[in-house]
Amino acid sequence: MASTAIVGVNWGDEGKGRMVDLLTEAFDVVVRFQGGANAGHVVINQFGKFDLHLLPSGVCRPGVVNILGNGVALDPEALVKEMANQNGIAITPDNLKISERASLLMPWHRQVDMLEENRLKDKTTGSTKEGIAPFYSDKNQKKTILAGELFYPERLKKHVKDLCTWKNLTLEKVYDEKPVSEKELNAWLHEYCEPLKPYIQDTRAYLLKAESDHKRILFEAQLGALRDLDFGVYPYTTSVSTLSSYAPIGAGVPGMEIDRVIGVTKAYSTCLGEGPFVCEYSGSEAEAWREMCHETHDSGRPVRIGPIDLVATKYGAEVQAATELAMTKLDVLSELDEIPLCVGYKLDGQVITEMPFPAALEKCEPVYETMKGWKCSISGIRNWWELPEEAKAFVNRVEQTVGQVIRWISVGPERHSIIRRG
Ligand code: GDP
Ligand code: MG
Repeated sequence: MASTAIVGVNWGDEGKGRMVDLLTEAFDVVVRFQGGANAGHVVINQFGKFDLHLLPSGVCRPGVVNILGNGVALDPEALVKEMANQNGIAITPDNLKISERASLLMPWHRQVDMLEENRLKDKTTGSTKEGIAPFYSDKNQKKTILAGELFYPERLKKHVKDLCTWKNLTLEKVYDEKPVSEKELNAWLHEYCEPLKPYIQDTRAYLLKAESDHKRILFEAQLGALRDLDFGVYPYTTSVSTLSSYAPIGAGVPGMEIDRVIGVTKAYSTCLGEGPFVCEYSGSEAEAWREMCHETHDSGRPVRIGPIDLVATKYGAEVQAATELAMTKLDVLSELDEIPLCVGYKLDGQVITEMPFPAALEKCEPVYETMKGWKCSISGIRNWWELPEEAKAFVNRVEQTVGQVIRWISVGPERHSIIRRG
């Protein structure tokens, strides 16, 4: 396959990780280009179950080179712990490379995230408290340490001192907290950054060479279109772009063209966190759907759930510039007599099918249609023509509304539980 991005067209957790794990059979390099350890990509294959956060989902393929690009929130503490725990797959400088231009997510980013969430109380916009918003704010203020600075100890020492002085203004004067000491911070850098040094390099040069050697490059995103900083449901977004058009920049190869953009959508909708979510079910209906769809989440927050939202999915595919779609989790709808779809929003008495301005979403009501269910297990099916007619009709309906071909349909979490179409 030519250079390809795998991105989310919904609110995240669409199953991007499982698609990356599957499709890396045809790639040499996988690059994570944005986000941090707040990602959770579950991959299940012959090596076991992987719960990946920062590591790209290509780590389970021997021979694939994985890169953390400059656009990533590089959390050394989370990464070092994650690298040590991968079902016996060794993470080495041969299969993982870290951009020297990636900024370090420091302990104070997580601390400020918590403090700000506590201050906001019920006005929170839904932080995962992994330090992501404070991290990207600091990066934009040019107040972060680049991974490559670890190779310039004198400069690093001075930089750490200046940043401590600056961050302590916020900790002490805004949040009334204890100041961070330079000594503590240097100990932290020693413990978690020293082990990463063999992995850090000029990944831009690596990728340019890979491209000229005709290596196949896959860009892996975190979260989905509705969480994009500019085009998502602001301010209930993340703090960086989640879009395919950001991939070349966040990966470190600004001029590279992406030939294919695979937008991943689930056969229903979920949203972890705050913000308007028009097709949301509530009460016992939501409980029943969470159980049916295996949507238990270990972050402590209940997964918000509802039927597939075609307004949001069409918009998501558009802003992602998707060239094709993958639909995941079709199998979990198999027990339903009827499959609901949110086909429009009712806003001020009118039915709309285009995504409105975020503030208007609060007033939108879902407009549902139903299609006949198939009422049999489809988990063992690997061929489009063997799918029940009702399941094919559902996939075709989504395809027509979104205006993108659905090229993959996944019917189970395991690597090979997939139906490929053409
Ligand atoms: P990501 O963040 O987009 O990579 O998605 P996650 O990994 O957070 O969430 C997707 C969840 O659905 C994971 O638990 C996967 O194992 C699971 N999953 C993915 N595809 C399928 C599928 O086709 N069927 C079922 N039953 N589960 C799936
Ligand atoms: Mg996830």
